[in-house]
Amino acid sequence: MERDRIYKVLDRYRITKGKKFRLKNVDPKDTYGLGSELKAEAKTLLQEGVRKLAEMQDKLYAQDRWSVLLIFQAMDAAGKDGTIKHVMSGVNPQGCEVASFKAPSSEELDHDYLWRCVPYLPNRGHIGIFNRSYYEEVLVVRIHPELLKVQKLPPQLVTKRIWEERYEDINGFERYLTRNGTVIRKFFLHVSKEEQKKRFLERLTEPEKHWKFSAADVRERAYWDDYMDAYERMIRATATPHAPWFVVPADNKWFTRLVVSAAVFHAMEELDLQYPKVDKRKRAELAEARELLLRTDD
Ligand code: ATP
Ligand code: MG
Repeated sequence: MERDRIYKVLDRYRITKGKKFRLKNVDPKDTYGLGSELKAEAKTLLQEGVRKLAEMQDKLYAQDRWSVLLIFQAMDAAGKDGTIKHVMSGVNPQGCEVASFKAPSSEELDHDYLWRCVPYLPNRGHIGIFNRSYYEEVLVVRIHPELLKVQKLPPQLVTKRIWEERYEDINGFERYLTRNGTVIRKFFLHVSKEEQKKRFLERLTEPEKHWKFSAADVRERAYWDDYMDAYERMIRATATPHAPWFVVPADNKWFTRLVVSAAVFHAMEELDLQYPKVDKRKRAELAEARELLLRTDD
């Protein structure tokens, strides 16, 4: 499968303007008509993508200007961890950090909700991955009002408009980061309810997957429709050309990984990354160093 074709695949799942977006139009089982006979090819392609991504990351790091922030959101068992692991497997760990956001601590609840994310924003030249993010503030917090209650907000600030206000602030924050050289790509791994059930059952039957299982995850399934509604609203309100959402079908892991890998690759390719140019003075310095090394015996 050639590169242009993959970019077409990306077009289908990239949301840059949310107004018309409907989640029901994305089938979690979708593979863009690519049959599972392409699984092997997808694997090769993914390996190639990983290799090229590593090359680009090296330039990103050397150039030290841009940073890349990848945000992953999904229902449990949609494959966030596996996707992150696979797609980033070739990159230099020195230039890539993953931050996982769980339920906030009491110290975190004593601050605004973006506060805890800021220290984990990627340095220039780095790739930062958010495994869950401030988007939980318009997802789980919207679905469970008791989570909003413990945020200690002044009561007069908690109105019907709070979710709209959060979308607005998140958009402002992402705009700000973009203007400072952070390239943002957001991924919603869209798994179906039945596939989630299948994966939970696997976690229950396979001993090496037991650790991944949490009874709370099963309880959260009862809110499935509320979550889908919250995801749709969130994507409609926060998909922008500079920080697009990719709604990635997640029932087939090989396809999820292919789409995410292509999206990350594409984002970096657009930056036209180059190794820093060596000027005349630096070239002279290098030549001198070389001569010095060759001249001495030890
Ligand atoms: P795993 O695949 O290991 O289960 P996970 O990302 O689901 O990974 P958990 O240890 O289950 O990790 O913790 C994540 C939980 O924290 C989720 O249920 C998520 O909704 C919750 N969470 C994250 N951010 C917030 C937040 N700001 N407020 C409340 N809950 C949050
Ligand atoms: Mg979990």
